[in-house]
Amino acid sequence: MSSDPREQGCARNGGDTPCNPTRRRMLAAGAGLLGLSVAPGVFLMQAGATSDAGTATGASPRVRWGLLIDTTRCAEGCDACVRACREENGWAHLGQAPTDAQWIRKVTVSDPDTGHSQSLPVMCQHCAHPPCVQVCPTGASMQRADGIVQVDKHLCIGCRYCMMACPYKARSFVHEPVTEFSPNSPRGKGTVESCHLCVHRIDRGQLPACVTRCASEGGGAMVFGDLNDPDSDISQALSRHGGRAIRQDLGLNPGVRYQGI
Ligand code: SF4
Ligand code: SF4
Repeated sequence: MSSDPREQGCARNGGDTPCNPTRRRMLAAGAGLLGLSVAPGVFLMQAGATSDAGTATGASPRVRWGLLIDTTRCAEGCDACVRACREENGWAHLGQAPTDAQWIRKVTVSDPDTGHSQSLPVMCQHCAHPPCVQVCPTGASMQRADGIVQVDKHLCIGCRYCMMACPYKARSFVHEPVTEFSPNSPRGKGTVESCHLCVHRIDRGQLPACVTRCASEGGGAMVFGDLNDPDSDISQALSRHGGRAIRQDLGLNPGVRYQGI
């Protein structure tokens, strides 16, 4: 347990917030800027929003949010992260695999040479150079200054260009009428959706739902934090043990990194 009173209740001590107090103060300050939200991380009004972000979100370009997943702690059959995401963001699996929502899914990869297989979660990889954003004709696919990639469903016309452009198959199309949804993540038939890194929680200074649940019910395989901050837990873990992106060869520089693959 950290002796720093500012770290009590943080992820390292079983809580729900990041452990870097500097970052938490920054997040708390950011939360004070929030106005009326039309979509997670997209605000109609922002008192005191800075213009250097270059977006309508107030996110800081000094920060780059990322996720590090230690696949050696990720058990096959564990779906704690998937359940957490579903509950937090109000999507459901309707039992129709080709069209079901794909915010986060567990996949098993095998090495053909050794036969070793590994289970891991795949969600939007929050690419630094996201092809989904580049092909979107309306600006609905957007990247915040802090690296979070998301869809504004109010601008989405359902053309699905972004789905074709995403090499990670991280996006899905809402085929069915939506009768219930979480206020955290407005959804609508005829629009595309994907993991937004729980931007509504991040902007409140909380960890993404999957990270919190993985720590309490799963193997504690996920670390969230600021890739730009060399002192953050995620940067420290990456410098100590390394980490790589899925399909690193594509050069998209994802914010989601993996260990053990
Ligand atoms: S993983 Fe796919 S949806 Fe996410 S930023 Fe990259 S290209 Fe876009
Ligand atoms: S960060 Fe949030 S939206 Fe993304 S996979 Fe995890 S729970 Fe789902």
